[in-house]
Formats: sequence, structure tokens, C-alpha cells
Amino acid sequence: MFKKILVANRGEIALRIQRACRELGVKAVMVYSEADREAKYVKLAEEAVCIGPAPSPQSYLSMPAIISAAEVTDSEAIHPGYGFLSENADFAERVEKSGFQFIGPTPESIRIMGDKVSAKQAMIKAGVPCVPGSEGELPDDPVVIRRTAKSVGYPVIIKAAGGGGGRGMRVVHTEAALINAVQMTKAEAGAAFGNPAVYMEKFLQNPRHIEIQILADKHKNAVYLGERDCSMQRRHQKIIEEAPAPGIPRKLIEKIGERCVAAVKKIGYRGAGTFEFLYENNEFYFIEMNTRVQVEHPVTELITGVDIVKTQIMVAAGEKLPFAQRDVVLRGHSIECRVNAEDPYKFVPSPGRITMWHAPGGPGVRVDSHVYTNYFVPPNYDSMIGKIIVHGDTREQALARMRTALLETVVEGINTNIPLHRELMVDAKFMAGGTNIHYLEEWLSHHKR
Ligand code: ADP
Repeated sequence: MFKKILVANRGEIALRIQRACRELGVKAVMVYSEADREAKYVKLAEEAVCIGPAPSPQSYLSMPAIISAAEVTDSEAIHPGYGFLSENADFAERVEKSGFQFIGPTPESIRIMGDKVSAKQAMIKAGVPCVPGSEGELPDDPVVIRRTAKSVGYPVIIKAAGGGGGRGMRVVHTEAALINAVQMTKAEAGAAFGNPAVYMEKFLQNPRHIEIQILADKHKNAVYLGERDCSMQRRHQKIIEEAPAPGIPRKLIEKIGERCVAAVKKIGYRGAGTFEFLYENNEFYFIEMNTRVQVEHPVTELITGVDIVKTQIMVAAGEKLPFAQRDVVLRGHSIECRVNAEDPYKFVPSPGRITMWHAPGGPGVRVDSHVYTNYFVPPNYDSMIGKIIVHGDTREQALARMRTALLETVVEGINTNIPLHRELMVDAKFMAGGTNIHYLEEWLSHHKR
């Protein structure tokens, strides 16, 4: 096992990794920008290094700053968390070239999965079902583009190969709008992601977002840890996640889970990863793979009892997965609400000083958050300030516990989306389970306030 790990991230995930390290008896070196000097995990750290000013390009996204922090502290490995440099293949490569272990997959795996066109091609080869669409990148020839759309069938969605975070996508309903849409998406993708390549998929009308969590070691062992339902999204951003996914036959989950494990073995993937699918009419369609720990990993931890972050560190150190597929038993139901510092209905960010923070508790309640009373939420980063996660024997019990937890939570001084979560937890359709990816946006468009 490593003696010392550098945590190359901030906020709740930095704290989550620090906790995993403490449990493993590994020293965690925390890094922080000038805006995060007051973070509790920094104050409670055995070692912490300031890596630059508040803007992330000069701190959390600065490869030289992070690698030299690892050097001066004699760290052996770097955990990238999520966001920032976590899915940057060049970073993973530089980390390894500098003599540190990157806690994640190989740079090659990150590179393949980071380009959605090559990711899809790898998945088709590995026998994972994908959304029907263009074979790879769309060419420039309008005749070919029109022919492809016709055979896929309208509506289609044009997606950037290098896209992420819900950006770089455009839905096209008619042939008349097609060529212009492709050109606009290409131009935007070139400017935003430095890669103008786009591809085409059938636009699924009412799918759910279902994803499979996998874990793999360096000894060709791999397991899947069931699924998560992340269909409650706004602008392609998840806000509520749960596991298991309500109403999907276990047989179907097992089939797709086994496909994912086979694909992981085939591509030589190691570490934690997530296969994201759209699910419609009892079929799964792969859309992308995330090669890192995800925000919503706790719901899986609560129903499986597996510590995903600890396992990431163990397999990066070369240990074998400590359990096999038959040991993965799902128990009960878990729901996560992301707490964002923002107006609950207009979604305008609301950074500033938290004058009062009271976290919920009680049976089956977990809070992953780095904030505290008198903490200042900096305006420089993502608005998520924490996650409330509950577990119950049944979905009904999990819902009841989440309602209680949300009722107990007090955040003063800034706006949060907790009022929105409180309303959704008593919404009849959400309570029934199985809402699709458009449900939250439709709900918001009818919402009276
Ligand atoms: P990103 O990397 O930006 O998150 P994804 O490919 O994962 O992009 O897609 C994000 C979201 O966009 C999905 O969860 C879904 O809501 C929507 N989406 C993507 N592809 C399709 C499709 N073919 N049909 C319908 N919706 C889609």
C-alpha cells in the first residue's frame, strides 16, 4: 500500500478521498487554491500545499503545480477525484512519467473513452449495445450526412466527439435543418473542445439514464456493482440519483452488467469506471464511459457495502479486488440529492458565506460535504456544496428518510436547491419511480412559484 497520496481536487470529493486514506492508514496530502485556504479538510490535513490562486487554470487545472506538489511532499500516488484533470489523458501520462501512480485507468484507456467516437467504436467491438447512428465521425459531404440521417431515422442528435458536461449536442427533427445543425455543432465543438469532430445518433424520445458501476484490478479481475438511475436531470446535469433503478427487471441489469465486465476485461481497463446508458423499451444503449469516480458513487456504496474510493486506491497500489462478482449483494435502496448553492428554481449560482449549517442525521443518513457554519462558498468553482444520501430497506423507506433529512437540513446565508428537493420527494410521479430524462425539465416548466 502507498504511504502517501496527493489529493488533486477540492470540495466534498477531496474530503471523501481524505476519509478513505485515513481508513487505509495512508497519509493524504491535500492541495488548495488561495480561495480554499479555509476548507476544513485543509485545516485537518496532516499536510497541505497551496497550489495557486483561485482561478482553476492556475491551480486545480495546473499540471505543473500539482506534480510539483507531489514532488515536494514525497507522495507516491495522485488521486484526481472527478472533474478538473481526472479525465485528462495527458495529465495521467505526465503523472506516470514523473514517477507517480495515477489512481485511475491507463492514459490509453482515458484517451479512447475521452473521444466519444472512439469510445463507441471500442464498445461496439466489445459487444456493448450502442445508440444506432453514424459509423464514427460524420464526413463533410452533405449527401452522405443526409443519407445517414435518413437511415438512422429522425429525430437525430448531433454530438461532439470531444463533448462533455452536457454541452455540444443538437437535436434535429427535419432534413431541412440537418446540414446547418451539423455545421453549427462542428463550429461550436471546435471552439469549445478543440476538436470539431461530430457524430450522429438516433435521438431517443423518452429514455431513462441508467449507468453501471464497474471496478477492475491490474490482475484481470473485474466486477460490476449494480446500476444507478440518474434520470432526474436539468440541462443534462444530474441532480438526484438512486440505486437500484426502479422497475427494471434484474435479468436485464445482469445481462448488461456482464457485458460491461466483459468489455472492461477486453480493453484492459483498471480502476473504477462507469458505463452510461440510455434505457428505452427494455433496451440499453451505451452513450459514454466515465473513467473516474463519480459524484453519485455513494448510492452504490450504500446498497453494496463496497467502499469504491478505498478500492480505487487499493487496486492502484496493485492489490487484487478483495471480492468477486458473487460476493456483490445488493441490499435495500439508496437515494442521493445534490445540494447546490443556487436559486432553487432559477438556478442562478449563490456563492457567499454560510451563516448557519446544520446537517441531518439519523438511521440510514449520510452527508458528504466539506462545508460548515461560517464557511465561505467561493464563486470560482462548481456550485455543489455537498450531497445528502439515504439508505432504506425499501424505496419507500429511503424516500421517507430523505424527506426527514431534507426537513432537518438548515443552510442560511446563501440560497440552495433544498426547497426543490423537498418538493420532488413528495411528487407523485417521482415517488412512483421510473421517470425519464425529460421529466424534471417538464416539471420545472409547469412549476408555479
Ligand atoms: P455528456 O458527456 O456531455 O454528459 P452524454 O453523451 O453523456 O454527454 O449525454 C448527456 C445526456 O444527453 C444524456 O444523459 C441524455 O439526457 C442526453 N442524450 C445524449 N444522447 C442522447 C440520445 N441519443 N438521445 C436522447 N438523449 C440523449
